Amino acid sequence: MHKKSLIVANWKMHLNTHQASTLVHRLHEHIQHHRDVEVVLAPSMLTLQPISVEVDRRRFRLSAQDAYPKDEGVYTGEVSFAMLGDLVHYCIVGHSARRLYFEESNDLIRDKVSAAVRNEIVPILCVGETKTERENGEGRAVVHAQLTTALMNLTSADIENIVIAYEPVWAISTFDGIIAKPSEVQEMITYIRRQIADLYGPKAAQDLRVLYGGSVNEHDARDYLSLDGVDGALVGAASLNYKQFSEIVAVAHNVQVEKASR
Ligand code: PEP
Repeated sequence: MHKKSLIVANWKMHLNTHQASTLVHRLHEHIQHHRDVEVVLAPSMLTLQPISVEVDRRRFRLSAQDAYPKDEGVYTGEVSFAMLGDLVHYCIVGHSARRLYFEESNDLIRDKVSAAVRNEIVPILCVGETKTERENGEGRAVVHAQLTTALMNLTSADIENIVIAYEPVWAISTFDGIIAKPSEVQEMITYIRRQIADLYGPKAAQDLRVLYGGSVNEHDARDYLSLDGVDGALVGAASLNYKQFSEIVAVAHNVQVEKASR
């Protein structure tokens, strides 16, 4: 059986409760349910709760965009993975916006990954190099350090329950928004799987779900989703538009049908 394609909508810090509810309504109308595609919505922390009661959970899963690694305590203003347990299936961890704007270190991200796994939430671990790091020829070394530190506390059984998203920072619309060539994406996705194979063995590397993220839209989604070893996409800006996002989901289904017939 083929792995499901995973399409994640990262709404970032957009949409108040009313706007988020309207978007969910539109997505219900426009996204066709396909067994081979899993659609995940990652709204802001504010709107997670109201959306959780509105959303058809047979068609959409929910993700948080971040959470705090301690389960409870004096951490004023924070929400823990433990608190999110009933609400979400996934949580994005180590998104480049968190790494850059909030100076999250690889060590903190490792603790978040561990907290997610401990609380039975699937972390969507984001890794990726900045433009300068790439230009300096440090891309692989940066991704290697991000991966090995973040996964340090996990067993090979845990690895089955994580998702990795390769998001080159230079390709994210918020930052430089350069369109990554599929060949560039392919190279790093292959490198990531090789790292996982070295750490956890070939089966873990094969079973792991690896996504691509970076200005994915309805026009270029096919180019990325068709790549070998790409199991889905993390979509930012285009996920705020129901037409664009619905088309990306439709493309994911078509690619799945093609991959299954290969
Ligand atoms: C993201 O938010 O993870 C992302 C990839 O954003 P965008 O699609 O807007 O580049």
